[in-house]
Amino acid sequence: MFIAHLPSGYILAKVLQKKFKTLPIHSHLFITVTMLGAIFPDIDLFYFYLIDGRSVHHHQYFLHWFAFWIPLFFIAFFCFWKSNFQSKWAALASTFFLAALLHVFLDTFVGDVWLLAPFVMEPFAFFEVSARYQPWWLNFIFHWSFAVELVICMWALIIFIKECKSKSLS
Ligand SMILES: [Zn+2]
Repeated sequence: MFIAHLPSGYILAKVLQKKFKTLPIHSHLFITVTMLGAIFPDIDLFYFYLIDGRSVHHHQYFLHWFAFWIPLFFIAFFCFWKSNFQSKWAALASTFFLAALLHVFLDTFVGDVWLLAPFVMEPFAFFEVSARYQPWWLNFIFHWSFAVELVICMWALIIFIKECKSKSLS
């Protein structure tokens, strides 16, 4: 996934805000932290390009493992639940880790993800993108799955515009 991670984080934040109506955090901070979580796993690209010399697919690094994010999310959410949904830090950690999980899940759409890493090192993707064009990223842009990315972007934009309109009316 290329362009939809950040908007998907925005959508997730808005969904969570609707679900937990009385979050103990300022709305802007909650949305920012969720959006950061939604792009955070890709910071391993720095390691991939600058240190590892592109020797393995960056989805093999631990920031793209479900086994890394799932326990973190459950620990944070348990703390949030134990605090009777009042702990600011537990709420922010929960949403950050959940957004990172969403990132890895969206990456499985057309990009190989090592689902059971580090226990089983086998890549998985819901749909394959065949290599037809150069540079490599054009293969993803011209693939039908890019339309899904555009839909996610449009969805986030619609929520944002609605939000702005309701604020200007109130
Ligand atoms: Zn990624």
